Amino acid sequence: MADVARLALAAVLAVLLMTAPARAEVVGHSVQGRAITATRRGAPAAPVRVLVVGSIHGDEVAGHAVIGRLRRAALPAGVQLWLVRTVNPDGVARGTRQNARGVDLNRNFPRRWRGGGRPFDTYYPGRSASSERETGALRALVRRVHPDITVYYHQHMRLVNLSGADRALVRDYARRVGLPARTLPAYHGTATSWQNHAFPATSAFVVELPAGPLSAASARRHAGALLAIAAGRASAAAAAARRPHVVWRRIPFGRDRQAQMRDYARRHYGLDHVRLIDPRVIVEHVTVTSTFAPAWSTFASDARDPELHELPGTCAHFIVDGDGTIYQLVSLRWMCRHTVGLNWTAFGIEHVGLSDGALMGDRRQLDASLALTRWLMDRYAIERRNVIGHNESLSSPYHRERVARLRHQTHGDMKPATMRRYRRLLAAR
Ligand SMILES: [Zn+2]
Repeated sequence: MADVARLALAAVLAVLLMTAPARAEVVGHSVQGRAITATRRGAPAAPVRVLVVGSIHGDEVAGHAVIGRLRRAALPAGVQLWLVRTVNPDGVARGTRQNARGVDLNRNFPRRWRGGGRPFDTYYPGRSASSERETGALRALVRRVHPDITVYYHQHMRLVNLSGADRALVRDYARRVGLPARTLPAYHGTATSWQNHAFPATSAFVVELPAGPLSAASARRHAGALLAIAAGRASAAAAAARRPHVVWRRIPFGRDRQAQMRDYARRHYGLDHVRLIDPRVIVEHVTVTSTFAPAWSTFASDARDPELHELPGTCAHFIVDGDGTIYQLVSLRWMCRHTVGLNWTAFGIEHVGLSDGALMGDRRQLDASLALTRWLMDRYAIERRNVIGHNESLSSPYHRERVARLRHQTHGDMKPATMRRYRRLLAAR
């Protein structure tokens, strides 16, 4: 009984530790002396840093609900969050757009700042660029954290602003929350324009929420979208860091060959394109040649193959040589004809050598092969069980073939026993 109670207590503590909010840190003060706080969540060494500002205008506070969700949400690997509920606590307390001195903080940043007007005018930019304590606090935080992604929540235009940020990233966010992505005019002295200009490899953008308070479902959707784009950045960074060295030895893949490949895709898969879209499979092969040159020449020739007498000629995206050099032959955008039934969705990797055993016994070649395969898996989110040997092609759930006489055609290279070992090695990184 005591043991059970201890276990239960330990479980409760573990949950509390996982969900306990990280301590807030005071990063500055408002004109009236209110604290401006930032809460860091996630590992300090996590490579992708995301800053979220719930409000900068004191009367546009719907984003606070997103901050609330992000304080509790499970974080993707490789991501740290910096949460600032508001950079304008005086404005929030007073219910005004401006801070207590009547300055629109989002016109006070030192990027294309332009003076004019009087305190509490809607867009009053302050007496000079960065004149306000709140502006200074946020700038210092941005310089210190150097966020890869920054989101500022505003209201109430119901859109996501593409201006100055990585458009693909912003479009991804917009699509996930169901808001249109638009390019607003470049206003003077905004926080995002200052950040995007001062830190050009990073992206800061504005999300304009609808008027009124945000529903719980919307807050969850926005928090989820933010974490998803951050996770995408983290996995891209991890994949780029692991990308092995690749040497280009391009084979001709011009219009003729593309047209042949497209005809092939129509005949065999009923697909009317030559693009390798959303690849799900990697097929490992052995060239059954003792050197690189004849394998490359065969693929480059674009001649009818001696077995099935079809065009285009056979092909592979990569050839890994015996010394571990990785050659790339074809852009990863194209289908390549290497495995009956799978060319529509599979990358092909050839290995110079006469047998499976030669590859598995050559440490340099095997290490290069594993590194290349892991990188493709990370880059395209391909599952380990879908890294298969040519000889396993018929048992792939992705196998499809419209030509009846080819439905059971496969080759003898990279057999199941070899691939079981290969997949175990893939897992042991
Ligand atoms: Zn093969």
